[in-house]
Amino acid sequence: MTAIPTFYSFHATSGRWTNLASLTSRLFGLMLLLGVSSTASAENLAVQAGWLFDSETGRLLEKRTVHVVDGKVESVERGFLQREGERVIDLRAYSVLPGLMDMHTHLAYEYGPRTYTETFTWNPADYTLRAVNTAERTLMAGFTTVRDLGDSGNVTVSLRNAINRGDIVGPRVFTAGKSIATTGGHADPTNGYRMSLMGSPGAAEGVVNGVASARQAVRQRYKDGADLIKITATGGVLSVAKSGQNPQFMEDELEAIVATAKDYGFTVAVHAHGKEGMERAIKAGVDSVEHGTYMDDQTMALMKEHDTWYVPTLMAGEWVTHKSQVDGFFPDMVRVKAAAIGPLIQDTFGRAYRKGLNIAFGTDSGVSRHGDNAQEFVLMVQSGMTPGDAIRSATWNAAQLLNAQDELGSVSAGKWADMIAVEGNPLEDIATLQNVRFVMKSGKVYKQPE
Ligand SMILES: [Zn+2]
Repeated sequence: MTAIPTFYSFHATSGRWTNLASLTSRLFGLMLLLGVSSTASAENLAVQAGWLFDSETGRLLEKRTVHVVDGKVESVERGFLQREGERVIDLRAYSVLPGLMDMHTHLAYEYGPRTYTETFTWNPADYTLRAVNTAERTLMAGFTTVRDLGDSGNVTVSLRNAINRGDIVGPRVFTAGKSIATTGGHADPTNGYRMSLMGSPGAAEGVVNGVASARQAVRQRYKDGADLIKITATGGVLSVAKSGQNPQFMEDELEAIVATAKDYGFTVAVHAHGKEGMERAIKAGVDSVEHGTYMDDQTMALMKEHDTWYVPTLMAGEWVTHKSQVDGFFPDMVRVKAAAIGPLIQDTFGRAYRKGLNIAFGTDSGVSRHGDNAQEFVLMVQSGMTPGDAIRSATWNAAQLLNAQDELGSVSAGKWADMIAVEGNPLEDIATLQNVRFVMKSGKVYKQPE
């Protein structure tokens, strides 16, 4: 089954439940299977596109009409057409692209000088309300689908559900819930606390040691309603801990996570800077490596052998490098790591692209500001990627990484009508994606040119 954001509901309906809640859930699941989503438009539309990006080939096709029925693309035809009963959306002066997809965001966070104190003063409701705002900004920037790779208190599970109900405005969210770390590792939620507050968080909080708790943590994410698994295989920049790159999971723990994740249809995304921890994770069969800073030729060969996706997050590298130059912005321990690791990612990305790795677009927004996501395209092109490939990484490739290529990633018959429009030719000027003028998700228009 395709993992659209209703994934969890599908799973909930496959069990043998007999109570009333289950019946409601089954009916809801059936509605989704029939494509009757509360956020999809019921109107028949003819979207007339001056140019339409073909994400399979990376080319722009001239003068196309996209017929939209029940929130999905019914067909794409040459010329500017209008059938009886269709409302025309006139984008004849624009380049139309599939909705953009960011494979690495943290909607509940937005990093600033107060981030570390918020940990002690904010409740889950505070993070949730911020996420309502960041989700809307993300959608309005043209990103109709995101992966959320780490929250706390399952904030983004509730966020995803509220978006799917149509209560709030935001992208399709595939969330990992709380990232899984080891004790003291990147994403151990009590790193840097004084002893009386530190406690000993366990699998439920996303901290594991050994095979049994690794399995338990994956199963807990299933119970929490997550769509995928995120683990932190090496140290990271922004955690209050000494190393930004040491390996933090043993092989048996990684194998236990991947095997358990498969039982639940989860993919596994892996935060990794250091080579050793990254290679252990690749060998264990994870789906994507995030950041990947210290990967070398050997690591890249291993990724090609295992069909591992690379999600570069160049914006995060640039952002931490910049902030490391500001006195007092980061705690001292973090500042040293930010200055060392941040500047390297762009070079790693250039090498990975030339080697032909499978690359999916990801920004780590929440480190940088939500809504600025399209700046990543500019950095990708600066490092030598063609604009066509950069856009494909955020459409065609991202849909594959999500196992949602039948539903998302291109404007073609049978897929969700997720479309954006920009002025000019994004293959000539990639920066035009930083000024998205039109946004449609599931056939519903959220933004249009004045
Ligand atoms: Zn991240």
